Amino acid sequence: MLTSAGDLGRRSAERPTVTPMRIGDYHVHTLFSDGCDELAACVEHALELGLPELGFAEHFTPVCLADDACCSRDRVEEYVAAVRETAACYPELRLLCGIEADYLPEAAEETLALLTSFPFDYALCAVHFVDGFSFDEARHLEADGWRDVDHVWRRYYETLTEAAQTGAFDVVAHLDLPKKWGLRPSADVSALERTALQAIAAAGMAIEINTSGLERHPVTEMYPAASLLRRARAEGIALTFGSDAHRAAEVGAHFAEARAWAQAAGYESWLRLSDREPVALP
Ligand SMILES: [Zn+2]
Ligand SMILES: [Zn+2]
Repeated sequence: MLTSAGDLGRRSAERPTVTPMRIGDYHVHTLFSDGCDELAACVEHALELGLPELGFAEHFTPVCLADDACCSRDRVEEYVAAVRETAACYPELRLLCGIEADYLPEAAEETLALLTSFPFDYALCAVHFVDGFSFDEARHLEADGWRDVDHVWRRYYETLTEAAQTGAFDVVAHLDLPKKWGLRPSADVSALERTALQAIAAAGMAIEINTSGLERHPVTEMYPAASLLRRARAEGIALTFGSDAHRAAEVGAHFAEARAWAQAAGYESWLRLSDREPVALP
């Protein structure tokens, strides 16, 4: 349900004084996909934290079967309009309209067409599926797809490499997502990681530090791992930040830790997506 501009205008007159976190959150979900809160609630929390920018990135999966898990093709227009309407009510914050699009090789054409049909500010590239298997979901933990953990990891990096080579995306979402459940490869996947990083660099894509794994996933670690982040830095890959919030209260979560994680990996700047310029880490 869209929030009306009138509702958006009813904001608390006083905000708590906070030390601003001058890093934008570019990975936020709302009721337009599988988030729990409306756009305005996320904006209110971002303002409380002092974030300068907020980017929504609703799920889009061309073969989405669960209606409430992703933004269906016929709701994308409504989503884009709602972000614009909300942005008009909050001029003190830069609001961006992104999308978290799954890369499915069998539906690549449909996905790429969507990305060029709407005026998104950016497209996150997500690989939640390998060969049709949704390794990202808890209900699939006992599924056949996980019988060969190494296979999931191998196909993850191969699929991600292919996605980067399309040149259609801006930022890799949650790089090294298969670690979500704590299932690590027994085989060495470093060569596959290197190939993926090189494809990401060649495409001019950024990666994000995604803080959702730290507290909300069994792995209890941000994405990507520190070693992978260092290698991304060495490849000259730019960095963004995302909470992957599915609730307003999760917007900007653990960004201080994420900033420290970035600096420890050698990053001195992050990519501000509103103008696509690198700026010094605050
Ligand atoms: Zn995702
Ligand atoms: Zn997400």
